[in-house]
Amino acid sequence: VKQAGKNNYRFFSQEMNESFLQELELEAKLRRALDRKEFILYYQPQIDIQENTVDGVEALIRWDNDELGLVSPGQFIPLAERTGLILEIGNWVLQRACCETKFMQEKTGMDLEIAVNLSPRQFKDKELIDKVDNALDQSGLAPHYLTLEITESIIMEDIDQSIETLMQLKERGINISVDDFGTGYSSLNYLSTYPLDELKIDRSFIMDIPADEEKVSISKAVINLAHALNLTVTAEGVEEYEQIKFLKENECERLQGYYYSKPVPRDSMLHFLEYKNNF
Ligand code: C2E
Ligand code: CA
Ligand code: CA
Ligand code: CA
Repeated sequence: VKQAGKNNYRFFSQEMNESFLQELELEAKLRRALDRKEFILYYQPQIDIQENTVDGVEALIRWDNDELGLVSPGQFIPLAERTGLILEIGNWVLQRACCETKFMQEKTGMDLEIAVNLSPRQFKDKELIDKVDNALDQSGLAPHYLTLEITESIIMEDIDQSIETLMQLKERGINISVDDFGTGYSSLNYLSTYPLDELKIDRSFIMDIPADEEKVSISKAVINLAHALNLTVTAEGVEEYEQIKFLKENECERLQGYYYSKPVPRDSMLHFLEYKNNF
């Protein structure tokens, strides 16, 4: 083996080792995070466009680690999903979100709804229904306040099992929302066969309206499609007044985005609900 080749090989394998070790280290930290109570839920308001009031909030997890600082879910949810840690973390999110929502309802006297993100592994978990029942029982939150957000790809995998799971959730009065709608599967068939309540138009479409004509067409089509199927529509990533104007004219029901508020911890959300209940 030539010298250069050898060096190249070593260089390459060193890099591999580094990222592998980094991932292992991150995984070890993530494994300890629940016990060490390093997770926090942030909440972002969802605005009823007609009433101009807060309808509900979406729970978004954050990881506060001594060494890493505040880590966003994009940086650890995929790892949690790969390693299976998501089952425990996700169950914590469910319980926490239900408890804190009940608390916020009591503090504000509002009929606040809560949206919780479900990962693919969670949706396929045989114990999902039991875990959801548990979270509701322990918190005292009525099931109709809870929405579970799932992505299209999750429910396209095992259609019969998915419908069964969704039916069991619907029986309890829980709402189902399709997150990131328009970015994944293009099959629209499932929309009429699955028991769903809401579509969330992905931020990538909302971002460029009303300037981008194609995004405008797609957004209008999604809203019309949803309404034809008796689903409500929430627009994600609303940042500008022009977007709100467009979405209101086109009869989108709910809005979520930095225009109203970034995701914030529970007490900041309570403050927001008390002082900014009208826009
Ligand atoms: P998502 O469910 O699509 O959540 C929306 C993301 O967009 C959030 O990022 C939110 O902070 C961000 N966002 C909201 N409004 C705006 C806006 O006006 N402009 C911009 N630029 N961004 C906006 P976040 O909190 O970093 O979460 C990223 C993703 O991580 C989520 O995307 C979701 O897929 C996942 N995630 C978050 N929390 C959980 C959780 O508890 N469980 C699971 N399984 N996944 C979660
Ligand atoms: Ca409502
Ligand atoms: Ca979501
Ligand atoms: Ca989304």
